Amino acid sequence: SLISPNAPTAELQALDAAHHMHPFTHGADLAQKGARVITRASGVWLTDSEGERILDGMAGLWCVNIGYGRKELAAAAARQMEELPYYNTFFQTTHVPAIQLSARLAELAPGDLNHVFYASSGSEANDTNIRLVRTYWAEKGQPERQTIISRWNGYHGSSLGSMSLGGMKGMHAQGGAVPGIHHIDQPHWWAEGGDMSPEEFGLERARQLEQAIEEIGPEKVGAFIAEPIQGAGGVIVPPATYWPEIQRIVKKYGILLIADEVICGFGRTGNWFGSQTMGITPDIMTIAKGLSSGYQPIGGSLLSDEVANVISGTEFNHGYTYSGHPVACAVALENLRILDEEGIVARVAQETGPYLREKWQALADHPLVGEAQIEGFMGSIALTPDKSARAAFASDAGTVGYICRERCFANNLVMRHVGDRMIISPPLVLSFDEIDTLIERAVKSLDECH
Ligand code: PLP
Repeated sequence: SLISPNAPTAELQALDAAHHMHPFTHGADLAQKGARVITRASGVWLTDSEGERILDGMAGLWCVNIGYGRKELAAAAARQMEELPYYNTFFQTTHVPAIQLSARLAELAPGDLNHVFYASSGSEANDTNIRLVRTYWAEKGQPERQTIISRWNGYHGSSLGSMSLGGMKGMHAQGGAVPGIHHIDQPHWWAEGGDMSPEEFGLERARQLEQAIEEIGPEKVGAFIAEPIQGAGGVIVPPATYWPEIQRIVKKYGILLIADEVICGFGRTGNWFGSQTMGITPDIMTIAKGLSSGYQPIGGSLLSDEVANVISGTEFNHGYTYSGHPVACAVALENLRILDEEGIVARVAQETGPYLREKWQALADHPLVGEAQIEGFMGSIALTPDKSARAAFASDAGTVGYICRERCFANNLVMRHVGDRMIISPPLVLSFDEIDTLIERAVKSLDECH
């Protein structure tokens, strides 16, 4: 028989530890501590099995952009499940939610990114992108353009293909990566910029792309993929010189530019897409997360007219059972309606975003904090023993970050740590008062681990 949802927390935790393997988790450690059992959520607040209310500074996993508990999305899902719970779009059929969502995305996306290939997640969408790029060049009569360039400490997903695109060395070390992907260094000035100014460093790191293309051979490179702002790598906002130089290089060599908008998309940076904030013109965009605010698993690849035209010239032998799932599409449509009609993206750009920025940047005055970076509703602070030297903690990298994250959690604030960098990505509906609460709890937690 099923355990009661109202069973004592310790019993729920013990059963969880016995049978549930958690992603990105040291299982034995967690089993000892017990996972916090989240029971419900509303707005930006989570409730756990002990009745504690926790401010979710991460919007789940960077995805609950409209906040929790929106009944309209539940209603959209229920309506769609009753009418047409599933049908595929493989064999000469389509359905209204996929038609409507595709047209809406074409409207929202910048430039001529007018075509969508659906997946259920960002990882799947990036796997699609690898095959799309290679198929595109084969169709153009340049099948040797196989190599895709990406960045160390970028994150593009957990499937074998998307993980290989990503530059998380700890992930590559567990089972290896697929060939044909070449990584260049990230534009992380605080940690790696040395004596260079941010502007010089941004150019230097962008020019690694040109060097890599020349070394590999321009006739062998198909695409460059990057997040407009690295998310899981630690919310790293590149120097202002970086993206214009990247854009110049991809144009010079005629390679495709893929913007992975899985985190940056759907309002997170104060525009609909991070590419708009960073001034990028991609040929392909990866989307997921905020597309449905996490209420349903859905992702996809947005393609330019040119890429879509070339791909449409052949049978692209690729697709997932749940590509364009009608319930996920219906929920995404309702989510986009709310983001738009309630002016949530504009509010991040003009009202709450600037307020959060001011408060967040003031954290740099804390003795433990070096740089504080923020763009819209994604922010990071570097923890450091010596801010003028931009120093890293000498031993046990990540220990202070881990302790700080634990303090935040104990203070009922969800913040993540990436090594010794603390990050936030709250729901876009966070109010002025809730911003104050987030900052107060963050400062209290920083004080406690200082
Ligand atoms: N791309 C980026 C930039 C991400 O941040 C993520 C997830 O965090 C992914 C891709 C993978 O998405 P998913 O976890 O939905 O597979």
